[in-house]
Amino acid sequence: MGGPSEGGMVMEGCLFCRIAAKELPTQIIAEDEDTLAFTDIRPQAPVHVLLIPKVHVDSLAEAGEKREMLGRLLDTARGLAAKLGLAEKGFRVVINTNDDGGQTVHHLHLHILGGRQMRWPPG
Ligand code: 5GP
Ligand code: ZN
Repeated sequence: MGGPSEGGMVMEGCLFCRIAAKELPTQIIAEDEDTLAFTDIRPQAPVHVLLIPKVHVDSLAEAGEKREMLGRLLDTARGLAAKLGLAEKGFRVVINTNDDGGQTVHHLHLHILGGRQMRWPPG
């Protein structure tokens, strides 16, 4: 999984590419070579963290060739949830995908939500 500096991996005008490039003020929770985790600007739970790959991928529907990236994102989400103290009580990971899925920012991201009882079904 290469970094955005390898070229062709940043989408012009993409909000989360700009956040990954640190062009916008963001409350960063964690970072590694391939991913960035930051607080959602409109939190839907006491803990609401977004986890993104630094390279641009439109959505989960477009990530068919990216099995390693997807595995690492999920493992990173698991580790973050543990680090944020959510593992024991529980948490929710959400990937809204395209329009019916409620995706508003078209750069793949995982929502990590915790700190309250989640309900089901989601709206
Ligand atoms: P989606 O609806 O695409 O699954 O989630 C996009 C999320 O990005 C929303 O929860 C929204 O609140 C969050 N968001 C949108 N713009 C910004 C921003 O500029 N900064 C941060 N930190 N979060 C944002
Ligand atoms: Zn992007």
